[in-house]
Amino acid sequence: METFKVEGVILATSNFGDANRVVTLYTKEFGKLEVNAYGCRRSRSPLAGAIQMFNLIRAEINHGVQVDTIRDADIINFYPNLTADIERLSYAAIFFEIVDKMTLPKLCEVEIYNLLVKSLPVLNKKNPQIATLMAIAQFMEFTGFQLNFENCVRCGKKIIGDASLSFADGGAVCESCSHGAIKGFNYPESLRQTFEELLSFDWLTENQLTFNLRQIHVAEKILFRYVQTLLNQELKSIKFLSQLAIN
Ligand SMILES: [Zn+2]
Repeated sequence: METFKVEGVILATSNFGDANRVVTLYTKEFGKLEVNAYGCRRSRSPLAGAIQMFNLIRAEINHGVQVDTIRDADIINFYPNLTADIERLSYAAIFFEIVDKMTLPKLCEVEIYNLLVKSLPVLNKKNPQIATLMAIAQFMEFTGFQLNFENCVRCGKKIIGDASLSFADGGAVCESCSHGAIKGFNYPESLRQTFEELLSFDWLTENQLTFNLRQIHVAEKILFRYVQTLLNQELKSIKFLSQLAIN
């Protein structure tokens, strides 16, 4: 049987049968893969510790006619705070569900893999709301659906001062192009700066996250609504967070 090796982040798992899981991995080598992990929910299975959402693993996979199967897996890195803290878990799960929903299988985009790997330690340690919004905003750059935050989508001029932000137009609309009427959301200067900071954050710095928390709250509302509009569905993870009522 043909086998191959991958390094990947576990985006999602779902249980089936007595002790098995379907595992969605985002791998460095092949992009998103769906593989079966048989017996991994038995405590004595050699796969038991490795096959958990958010883990970065090295896996050996058997290529099957219908499904691929994980034969062996080692943990490269795991993030204990993500599973210990329900708010942190909920936020990180939103980022992961968005990546899962907005990527195609077996399409290798190493930048997405790199973003997952770099953002996980920050999602594990820093303000979970801000870390998640940074991850989602930066991920959108790789989807072709990023909103234009910087320039007016109508006239192309750099946005200065207050403007509006319209999903239908694909981003910011300057005051003169909107003829005084707000299209979509209010898009004040401070919100534009917040989006710029989210997009330019360098994951490898150890700096504290210093953001305008009021605008972070608005940015969350916009990003969550935009993604759900694009996907034309309510995401389970976003619904879960709203049920926690921590906002
Ligand atoms: Zn304009």
